[in-house]
Amino acid sequence: MKIHEHQARDLLTLYNVKHPNFELVFSPEEAARAVHELTGELFVIKAQIHAGGRGKAGGVKFARNPKEAYDAAKELIGKTLVTPQTGPQGKLVRRLLVSEGCNIAKEYYFSMVMDSDNAQVSIIACAEGGVEIEEVAASEPDKILRIGIDPGIGLRDFQIRDLAILMGLQGEAAAELINIAKGLYKLFVEKDCSLVEINPLVLTCEGQLMAIDVKMDFDPNALFRHPELIALRDTDEEDPKEVEASAYDLNYISLTGNIGCMVNGAGLAMATMDTIHHFGGVPANFLDVGGGANKEMIVAAFRILNSDHNVKGIFINIFGGILRCDILAQGIVDAVMEVGLRRPLVVRLEGTNAELGKEILSRPGFQIIPAESMADGAEKIVALVAQMEV
Ligand code: GDP
Ligand code: MN
Repeated sequence: MKIHEHQARDLLTLYNVKHPNFELVFSPEEAARAVHELTGELFVIKAQIHAGGRGKAGGVKFARNPKEAYDAAKELIGKTLVTPQTGPQGKLVRRLLVSEGCNIAKEYYFSMVMDSDNAQVSIIACAEGGVEIEEVAASEPDKILRIGIDPGIGLRDFQIRDLAILMGLQGEAAAELINIAKGLYKLFVEKDCSLVEINPLVLTCEGQLMAIDVKMDFDPNALFRHPELIALRDTDEEDPKEVEASAYDLNYISLTGNIGCMVNGAGLAMATMDTIHHFGGVPANFLDVGGGANKEMIVAAFRILNSDHNVKGIFINIFGGILRCDILAQGIVDAVMEVGLRRPLVVRLEGTNAELGKEILSRPGFQIIPAESMADGAEKIVALVAQMEV
């Protein structure tokens, strides 16, 4: 689960990681007032969306006085920002962060991620941070520094001292890097993060090291023990289909293709997507309804697929174990009665009560196309959708 930069900055404050003073605003008037209340000569007006790359897309503006802040905010609020991380549809800007600006001497990259290969948290850092970090990583990967943190021992000062030398930081700035790294590691562990990324971490002209942008992502499986983080969720920033799916405990991820898939079991769902690809189709989503799905969940899942304008055909692939095929079939029938059926629907049922399920689906008036196997079903839906495209 992602959160906004202003929320992540509040967490930085809790863990003693320095960053410029700021205010959260929702209108040009509030932006002007914020500049009035903050101190300094330069202010930064930043679009708050759950995506990076804002700077290059015009989502980070500078102001020297309340009037300029008003104008910058007026331009940003209500704008749809398209960055390499938002997808082509972009994200609507509804809130802004107004920050005290700083005089940057140098920009660094500093992050912590869950390194699953080594079963530990890793620090990833680079002496060349800022908006070009992706290019540096691609063209000069040797410049990206990595340090593993042994979970049994924790982060040791010498690790960060070594890192400071490699990053070219000395004296007070090097000491501050130790402070920042320790604070971030504590935050990472205590809050069950999957990513904390500071880009840029800056050295100011006055010699101070501080975070001026931060991104955080949290492990959704650990959210049950963090009500304080759940309270930070902003569903406006999420795909509405994914929001609805999560309300029904469905594992749903929106993708770019045109074949809607409903499957039970994550492994079978992955195999189904591969098989669709094999026959030349592209899935519109990943959807695992889970082993213990009930009728309400099936109806909700069908409704989500049916409401997706990209979906040109639906393939339901079920291997009934705990989820009985007759329950699933009844769920499909109820869903079709409720929302209608305007696209080809191919269903493959196998396992517990499969025959009963097929009987329920074969009732007259229902244009449901049965499939003998996963391959048969994938081939059929790809062919049907291809026919519709011509
Ligand atoms: P992102 O593009 O979404 O990652 O947004 P950032 O918050 O990282 O801002 C992009 C760039 O704007 C940074 O890399 C800086 O170069 C610049 N920037 C942001 N805040 C300040 C500031 O306070 N002072 C100065 N001089 N530049 C800033
Ligand atoms: Mn940034």
